Amino acid sequence: MSATAAAAAATTAVSTPAVQERLRPLVAERGSSGFFEAAANGEIAILTCEDCGRRIHLPRPRCVYCGSTAVLWKPAPRTGTVYCHTIVEHQVHPLFPVPYTVIVIDLDGEADGVRLIGNLPGRVDVAAGTPVRSSFENLGADASGNPVVLPVWEIDTERAAATSGESR
Ligand SMILES: [Zn+2]
Repeated sequence: MSATAAAAAATTAVSTPAVQERLRPLVAERGSSGFFEAAANGEIAILTCEDCGRRIHLPRPRCVYCGSTAVLWKPAPRTGTVYCHTIVEHQVHPLFPVPYTVIVIDLDGEADGVRLIGNLPGRVDVAAGTPVRSSFENLGADASGNPVVLPVWEIDTERAAATSGESR
C-alpha cells in the first residue's frame, strides 16, 4: 500500500461524530448521583464525611477513614491546577475525536489525592501547575428527566497570566 493509500485508509477508519451526538454518563446511579446533581446546580461536589470531615474520593458508601455512613456531597472549589496530563492521538471511541488533552486536576485547597479528570479539546500546552477552572455544559435530560450536566474544564488564562508574571 502506498503512503497516500495508507493515509486515506487511516482517514476513513475514524468516523466523525454526528453534530450534537454525545456520550452521556448515567447521572442517577446511587454512588455518583450527588456529583451530577451538584453539577446541574453549577457546583463541583466531593463526597464528604459528616463525622470526621474528610473528603471521600473516590466516593464510597462509608467513610474510609472513620467508618461512618454519614456521607454527603459537599461543594468543592471550581478551580484547580493541572497535576499531570497526556495528549491522546489514537482514537478509541468515535465520539471522542482526537487529538485531545486529558488532564488530572488538583482542586484548589483540597487535600492531596482529591483529583478530578477532565479533557481539553486539541493538543493543549499545559504543564503541572497550570491553573484551570470549570464551567458546565448542559446535555439536556436523560430518559427519566434527570438533567445531564457535565463539568467542562478550561485553562484559567487570568490566573495563568498572573502566575507567569510572578515568575519573572
Ligand atoms: Zn469519617
